[in-house]
Amino acid sequence: MYKALFFDIDDTIFDFEKCSLAAFKESFKICNLHYSRSIHELYREISKDLWKKQKSGEISVQDVLNSRFKILFEKLNIDFSYYSFQKVFEKNLGQEYITEPNASQVIGTLSKKYKIYAASNGILEMQINRLKHANLLDYFTDLFVSDDIGYDKPSNSFFKECLKRSKLKPEEILFIGDSLQADILGAKNNNIDTCWYNINEYEKPKDLKVNYIIRNLIELNKILL
Ligand SMILES: [Mg+2]
Repeated sequence: MYKALFFDIDDTIFDFEKCSLAAFKESFKICNLHYSRSIHELYREISKDLWKKQKSGEISVQDVLNSRFKILFEKLNIDFSYYSFQKVFEKNLGQEYITEPNASQVIGTLSKKYKIYAASNGILEMQINRLKHANLLDYFTDLFVSDDIGYDKPSNSFFKECLKRSKLKPEEILFIGDSLQADILGAKNNNIDTCWYNINEYEKPKDLKVNYIIRNLIELNKILL
């Protein structure tokens, strides 16, 4: 019997792609830089590559956040401080809270029966702001975000720290997330049950055990109520 639900934030509660695009465009406007779709495409490629390296443990979350605009600006010869842009972008992203389908409704309903926690790779202050804007923050008992925890998913240290802070046992938790590596494998390695939010209907690797697979968050009601 689960007592608590741990939710990943990006691409599980918030539609990261949409939030990120809106913040990206707005940041170009604020910094008086010319925006085009191809710039965003290139940014996505750079970002994807960096997050892949982070999930395999080659670099940290902070490395991803600090180098994505540096690489982009260097590649495009943009004569503007990438660091200033990064700060503008992070501020804008903190204002974007486009949720995944049914996220608010499901979290609201499940919070009546379970303690809700967030477990995210990112910046704590930014995630607090976004959940606040989306009227979701009050449902959360606590937020575990990598820059505050001191470790990144999927490292065992991240999960151990979450267990320590929440005072929960692994068997009392269901971890819900979209990333097979950061969320599912990370939780599984720490004996926590998993629910893979697979909105894109990717194929599951045969060698990875997942307790539940859902395509829409509303399916959680059926599993948990
Ligand atoms: Mg995610």
